[in-house]
Amino acid sequence: MAEAQATEAIATVAPAYPNWVTERTKQPQTVAWTNPATMQTFDVELYDFSFLGFKFIPVSDQSGRQYRGVNDELGRRLIEVQKALYDQCLQEKQAESPDKPITDVSEARFRDWCWQGQEPFRDSKPADAVGHVGVKDVGGSRSRHSSGSAVDIHLFYNPFIPVRNGSKLGGELHAFPKGVTQVQGMNQVQFHETNIWGPAVDAFDRAHSLFFGVKPDGTSAELQKDSNLEHAADIYDRFKRVSLSLQAYFCFAFDDGNEQPKKLDDFKAAFSAAFRAQAFHPDALHADHSNLAAGLSSPRANAVLEEYYRRIVRDYSQMKLATVNGNLSIDANGLITFPKPERRQRDPCKGIFNIRREAFVALVKGEKLRWGGSMFDNFSGDTMHYDLDHHFVDGQEFVVR
Ligand SMILES: [Zn+2]
Repeated sequence: MAEAQATEAIATVAPAYPNWVTERTKQPQTVAWTNPATMQTFDVELYDFSFLGFKFIPVSDQSGRQYRGVNDELGRRLIEVQKALYDQCLQEKQAESPDKPITDVSEARFRDWCWQGQEPFRDSKPADAVGHVGVKDVGGSRSRHSSGSAVDIHLFYNPFIPVRNGSKLGGELHAFPKGVTQVQGMNQVQFHETNIWGPAVDAFDRAHSLFFGVKPDGTSAELQKDSNLEHAADIYDRFKRVSLSLQAYFCFAFDDGNEQPKKLDDFKAAFSAAFRAQAFHPDALHADHSNLAAGLSSPRANAVLEEYYRRIVRDYSQMKLATVNGNLSIDANGLITFPKPERRQRDPCKGIFNIRREAFVALVKGEKLRWGGSMFDNFSGDTMHYDLDHHFVDGQEFVVR
């Protein structure tokens, strides 16, 4: 009977997922979320689970209460993402050993598969991953994290970066001192454009132009807003191109994890060898955005190399500011400092976007999650962040702008 056969066929292909793929643990601590439009308060249940091989990090509110995980709706969608990735991982493992049927993959092997090719991945293992942050910003109603409707994935290697839409820049905003509205004659956004976002985006362009040339308007890196979930693969590719270009750019002058630049002579030797081997795009930009190839083929070649080296060294500091871990302090005179007490800062040599393409597409296109890198209304660039767009509580969506 056709119907019975069909049922049987479905039964044999439906994958049996190991418990860790689908299991969620309801957390003892719910989080209170207030809808700012109606002032109605909800107790939101939170769920913790293993996602891409890592669990959620607990966060504390001001009274020291600990919360962990994401809400029911986001949890459900992340599990769907995980199932889709598990299927792909299983298929890949099966293709690697065609003679032996592979019926399941361990959590550790799945975790390695999820992070393969990303930063940092050492000795075939994801190193230095800190886990995900779900609920946070407790008591704030605008942050999607406050109702467990958002997740930050692999946040140390997916920073909040400056972005550009047309000629308009955006990115993470750091506070001016209390009561101060102008610093160096600029408002908050202008100050960020001039001192933090602009110089970083310039560095993105220089790095990206090395491999992808320049567009007619003189820019190179494609950082623009796109909130169309169907475009996930294209969005991934253009941000990954920027990330990989930055890694190559900074690694000419810096060793991994070392803040001291390499010796100038070592840089010159490696960079000119790459130029001679035609590793760079003919339109690549020099430090002052003139044509790099023209400079390196001229009698000024040696000076051009030194200028380029000095530019990378300056860009390295600018990138650290622009991708700060924590909040920058800006004083009334415009002096910018890193968070105190000193915390570990991101390494520009690791790029700005570290997640597997399959995972990104499953999150954004598959489960319709909004990505902070290109999909916020304002100030996109939050490459670690994925959310339900609005707050989701007890199966109900609340639109809060
Ligand atoms: Zn976030």
